[in-house]
Amino acid sequence: MNEKTLFQKIADGEIPSDLVYEDDHCIAFRDINPVAPTHMLVVPRKPITRPDLIEEDDETLVGHLFTVARQVASQEGLSDYRLVMNNGAEAGQSVFHIHLHLLGGRPMTWPPG
Ligand code: AMP
Repeated sequence: MNEKTLFQKIADGEIPSDLVYEDDHCIAFRDINPVAPTHMLVVPRKPITRPDLIEEDDETLVGHLFTVARQVASQEGLSDYRLVMNNGAEAGQSVFHIHLHLLGGRPMTWPPG
């Protein structure tokens, strides 16, 4: 059996997190190293390694991450925010279990670094 990812361990309560939302399909928690006043991660319980390994069967699940991000943003009182999913190390991915970053609470610049 493959070892659990860091985010599976968080989802299973084996590693503590500042959880803000959970359901049968995903969890959302505050990033341990925030880069904005609000920085949450929305993570499916299913350990898909990276965005380019999302399959057709995952489309509903991945869409659900956006719905949850909207709910969490609303709970935080955010109307404007950025959603980011990094694909691969060069793009900034460091945890190989897909996750949507929800960033808000300050003006964002474009393009990202
Ligand atoms: P990425 O670099 O896109 O893969 O994002 C991974 C994110 O996970 C980073 O922003 C980290 O700060 C965050 N992170 C790593 N470990 C933890 C943890 N134990 N609890 C919460 N966030 C974490």
